[in-house]
Amino acid sequence: RPALHRVGIGFDIHRLKRGRPFVLAGGRIPHASGPDGHSDADPLSHAVVDALLGAAALGDIGEHFPEASPRWRGTSGPEFLRRTLALLAGAGWRPVNVDATVFCERPKLGPHKRAVEAALARALGLPASAVNVKAKTMEGLGPVGTGKALAAQAVASLARAPGQG
Ligand code: MG
Repeated sequence: RPALHRVGIGFDIHRLKRGRPFVLAGGRIPHASGPDGHSDADPLSHAVVDALLGAAALGDIGEHFPEASPRWRGTSGPEFLRRTLALLAGAGWRPVNVDATVFCERPKLGPHKRAVEAALARALGLPASAVNVKAKTMEGLGPVGTGKALAAQAVASLARAPGQG
């Protein structure tokens, strides 16, 4: 009999490129550069996808949504999240809460945190009280600190979905 609760962890990082939209959980923040990649390259959504998949022991984002496939070109973070929830539901799991940290030197995320959190909660179908997004700079250190990259980490907890005991 499987456990009633599970936790998972996720991490993602994308290069920042001039002219790309700066998007977190589907919400756009005005900035001269944004995360670059095959999809919308939103590291927050991708880290949460991996946390959810990890909690359900369903592998990782690259297995389910391979970058090599043209099918996922330009796919938004919230779309990946919705598809991940469907995979979880198929395995008898639903998300309970998500906590995440976005590592970003610029733009300053403080004024945008609550909006990002609300967008993430919407994409997950969770109440705002079950989703937390924190923002940290890297004190000028490393690829994030020098403005070359945007990273995120997340943890997610799951419970058995209704009817799954
Ligand atoms: Mg990614």
